[in-house]
Amino acid sequence: MTKIDLKGLPHNKLEDFFLTRGEKKFRAKQLLTWLYHKFETDFENMTDLPTPLRAKLTEDCYVSRLEIADKQKSHDGAVKYLFKLEDGETVESVLIPDKPRLTVCLSTQVGCSLGCKFCATGQMGFIRNLKASEIVNQLEGIKLDQGETNNVTNVVLMGMGEPLLNTENVLDAIDNFNSELGYEIGARKITISTVGIPKEIEKLAALGLKERLAISLNAPSQKLRDDIMPGVKKFPIKSLIKPIEKYAESSARWVTLEYIMLKGVNDSLSHASELIEFTKDLPVKVNLIQYNPVEGIKYESSELRDLYLFQAYLLENGITTTIRKSKGQDIAAACGQLRTEKIKATGTQSHGEKSKQ
Ligand code: SF4
Repeated sequence: MTKIDLKGLPHNKLEDFFLTRGEKKFRAKQLLTWLYHKFETDFENMTDLPTPLRAKLTEDCYVSRLEIADKQKSHDGAVKYLFKLEDGETVESVLIPDKPRLTVCLSTQVGCSLGCKFCATGQMGFIRNLKASEIVNQLEGIKLDQGETNNVTNVVLMGMGEPLLNTENVLDAIDNFNSELGYEIGARKITISTVGIPKEIEKLAALGLKERLAISLNAPSQKLRDDIMPGVKKFPIKSLIKPIEKYAESSARWVTLEYIMLKGVNDSLSHASELIEFTKDLPVKVNLIQYNPVEGIKYESSELRDLYLFQAYLLENGITTTIRKSKGQDIAAACGQLRTEKIKATGTQSHGEKSKQ
């Protein structure tokens, strides 16, 4: 019989699990405390559970954990992790210290189907969705590696993959991050970063989510977006307007538009002008991101001068605009880069990559 992984299940699903086995639902609370507050994986050590239940759980279930396949530390403090999954696939996560915040950037899929041309993950193709446990275990793996007292303050789902093409598992993982029985990270400290999938954003708004929503826009016009993010053509920029308004209203927080600055591609003042036109009546702020160049990909990071001019122009026109400096340039910190380098170095490939050949 295949054992059931009890990691990553949100509180309500874990209560259902115990109820369907004739157990009291408060066992879920006890188990969650062991998993997320005491980092315990062995049911036999969960001493407030009755002995017969411990034995039954040991027989039928397990608690997964991820193995670190590689780790690189940047001179600026960022740490990039490559985690090995049960089926041998790998995903990346990054720990980004930026006092007073300590942020982790986590993956939600192995590979990605959307093929953004500036992104290393986009060149891998889609391999599979991550389970909720695999998303949660990236954070756990970082915490354990850094020491259990390591106090991660923020989570961004901005690593490999598109979170809203794996919504159910992402929501289950968020429940674990956010819950007081889980990692107790406030909803406002959790960011879902998406290319913008209209019906999924509307679903999140209808659920009343309070997490921050960031939409990776990267181009102010449909034509340019189609060129640099070809997999996103089916979600036109204009179809984002209503979902953005709904999410901002339901979460009582403005949505962030992420804009990666690519030299000579989307960083001129005429692009800024188009961006102002798109954003001026929307409940959004803009976050300009310095591009982390990727070997073998033709795009370059915009000159700092152009970055600041672009920001100033947006600010002058009343658009709240921040700049996010790129961290970990010396450690392959752009999403998908470390995995790609590891595959090249070891000659191993995932099933998805083999099947594309
Ligand atoms: S930028 Fe995000 S959505 Fe685009 S290919 Fe990379 S992982 Fe996928």
